[in-house]
Amino acid sequence: MTSPALAVHALSKTFGAKRAVEDATFAVARGEITGFLGPNGAGKTTVMNMIVGLTDPDAGEIELLGVRHGSRRRDLRMLIGYLQEKPRVYPEMTARGYLRFFADLYGIPNAGSRVKEVIERVGLASAADRRLGNFSRGMQQRACLARVMLHRPELLILDEPTLGLDPNGVADMRAIFREMKAEGVTLLFSSHQLAEMERVCDSVVFMRQGRVLAAGQPAELLPPGVSTGSLQVELYEPAAQCLERITGLPEIEQVRQTGPHRLELVPRRTAGDSRDARAQTARLLSQAGYTVLAVEAAALSLEDVFISLTRPEKSGSVAARRASLKGN
Ligand code: ATP
Repeated sequence: MTSPALAVHALSKTFGAKRAVEDATFAVARGEITGFLGPNGAGKTTVMNMIVGLTDPDAGEIELLGVRHGSRRRDLRMLIGYLQEKPRVYPEMTARGYLRFFADLYGIPNAGSRVKEVIERVGLASAADRRLGNFSRGMQQRACLARVMLHRPELLILDEPTLGLDPNGVADMRAIFREMKAEGVTLLFSSHQLAEMERVCDSVVFMRQGRVLAAGQPAELLPPGVSTGSLQVELYEPAAQCLERITGLPEIEQVRQTGPHRLELVPRRTAGDSRDARAQTARLLSQAGYTVLAVEAAALSLEDVFISLTRPEKSGSVAARRASLKGN
């Protein structure tokens, strides 16, 4: 088995009295896109800074590209690209001039053509000869991303790369990530945007208050006994009619109409898995006189995982917790 691109073990960092990171352990598989998720102040930036060697950990170990204590190795830095949270550009330079400056600084061969390539990759071709000072924040972010890609790193670490991007920019960024992945690059990026992570990540790492709450594929991360719980039902008859009939039934915790012939419902929790819940629901609806065309378990979203991890005090399904949060 190949070693992970990155393995962080029992990492801790304190600033004065503030414990920014406490006993953080997780790994990033080679060639995958891993999302680093958590609220403001969770410790993500501090972890990233420790990985790339900008901040020394108080305790713990970092294995970088298969090398123990790799963050201290200068030669490994050429294999990593790090995009910091706040883009730093030279406002007087054009995008092309800025990238050429760094390409020469890094000693990149065929600098002119590599600069052209990365400019195209980040979607700045039409603005390449404009000054960075006149760029929007999102465009500056793209220029910075181009800079950290110049030397063809094996591992890209990106701190909130989609901050300041409009929805098109976010979609472009996702496409860039997928292209990089197809080329074998490993990506770790932080974000607050759950939906955006969901669409591009192979794995996620959740942090809160300095601790890693969970790491892995989203579907693996729900605590035992917790499911999203909601089912999508397609009926032959009009959904409105059925909604009226079944609202308030003891077997149903929640129900709402999602289309002319569609309902989303959460059955009251009984023993058994999602298959049992679907079968029970189909039986219940047909006993009530409806023709069920389909019953599907709702896809697990990162938001569901996040809610279940950050609100452990509430029991029951994620859908019920979400509803209770809305009701509060
Ligand atoms: P955000 O999503 O807002 O960027 P984050 O998850 O990246 O947050 P960090 O920036 O790593 O979180 O911060 C973790 C905690 O450590 C915060 O409480 C922050 O104020 C504190 N912290 C970070 N760097 C320093 C520093 N150099 N000196 C003092 N405290 C710091």
